[in-house]
Amino acid sequence: MNEETIAAVATAPGRGGIGVVRVSGPRLTDFARRLCGLLPLARQATLTDFRDGQGRTIDRGILLYFPAPHSFTGEDVLELQGHGGPVVLHLLLQRCLELGARLAEPGEFTRRAFLNDKLDLAQAEAVADLIDASSVQAVRSALRSLSGEFSRQVHGIVDRLIELRMLIEATLDFPDEEIDAATLLREANVMSRLEQLRADLAGMQRRARQGSLLRSGLQVVLAGPPNVGKSSLLNRLAGEERAIVTEIAGTTRDTVRELIQVEGIPLHIIDTAGLRETGDTIEKLGIERSWQEIERADVILQLVDACDARHGLTAEDVAIAGQLPERVERIVIHNKCDLSGEPAGRSEEGGQVHLRLSARSGQGIELLHAELLRVAGWQEHGEDLILARERHLQALQAADSHLAEALIRGDALEFCAEELRGAQEALGEITGKFTADDLLGAIFSRFCIGK
Ligand code: GDP
Ligand code: ZN
Repeated sequence: MNEETIAAVATAPGRGGIGVVRVSGPRLTDFARRLCGLLPLARQATLTDFRDGQGRTIDRGILLYFPAPHSFTGEDVLELQGHGGPVVLHLLLQRCLELGARLAEPGEFTRRAFLNDKLDLAQAEAVADLIDASSVQAVRSALRSLSGEFSRQVHGIVDRLIELRMLIEATLDFPDEEIDAATLLREANVMSRLEQLRADLAGMQRRARQGSLLRSGLQVVLAGPPNVGKSSLLNRLAGEERAIVTEIAGTTRDTVRELIQVEGIPLHIIDTAGLRETGDTIEKLGIERSWQEIERADVILQLVDACDARHGLTAEDVAIAGQLPERVERIVIHNKCDLSGEPAGRSEEGGQVHLRLSARSGQGIELLHAELLRVAGWQEHGEDLILARERHLQALQAADSHLAEALIRGDALEFCAEELRGAQEALGEITGKFTADDLLGAIFSRFCIGK
């Protein structure tokens, strides 16, 4: 157990009815006695004065005491609920530092919870994901991971791997005995069980990839000449879903990026209208960044005027298309179909998807939703999505590669056993069984302070 006591303001900065200072460390009863002049009662709310070194009252509030090991961190934890003003909380925190605590690093409470086996790594990450969640689906998914659902699935696969390893290694250990290794393995169905295991892992990968969309979302680029309806389409997409519209970075004069949501999936929309030549340095920087983002966009919505494009794209539209990266999937949107008199609809010409719709009337918008979800690879709104992080996806991928190798070389038992061990280690990284210290540092440093 850690000998250092840590403290931090756990509530968000700003003013609020209540603000919380959290303290964690070994043996905090004396700490509480000096702070409040009383011995704290375990898991009971006590109304008390919080006092400074001269015995003057800093604030009056509620003291909560969670003795080890039944606390979030597994250590003694004190929660000081004071009034939610920045100065009050600063004074309370100062007092805690005087009493011997040091300022907690970002994520340090959760890190201690992990080190004291209160949470595994995937659960610890879910804490941060829950706080960062920007949609209801993301919240649900983070909660499932926090409750250990994701970890249980990983453990389920690992347990089956261990069983197969034991079978194979047992035959390796007794090469000269009467046991015929091949017969034994055949009788235990090792190879078909391995295949089944790989299929189940693939299912998990699918759910994780889809879930990771809830975290990172899709990069969508709006391209097209002025007045074709880019802003109107953006507003329509945002408004339809009563989405949270946030202005991100952008430039001084124009918003280049917006974040909206469709069916709970964040869409980062970049309007290329902002990407014009400029002498303004700050704006230039923003534009450079936008071009970098266009390079790694998931989809480009190229807007054309439905009236002009009745007989194919205009020269101007072709020129715009030429400026955009070729490898990024493109959807041609024939906007203002209410003016051209055509019905909304979808067509495909030579593999290129065309949608006719109206940003103004909203006709055909559902086609665009469906198309975006298709590009995203979104299949269903299952309750079983895994809010995966990039490192989880990589670990699942690594485990899958090991299993694939093991299946190919099923006759070379030693090799096969080695691959199964590799798969087990890759999966262990998800829950933190085999995780290097620097990775832990990287994970927890991205938490907010007080968590
Ligand atoms: P942007 O310059 O590409 O962002 O285009 P805007 O969204 O500012 O739209 C330019 C004009 O076209 C505005 O007057 C819009 O009201 C109009 N407009 C946009 N979409 C439609 C549409 O689907 N139908 C009709 N009739 N007008 C539209
Ligand atoms: Zn515009």
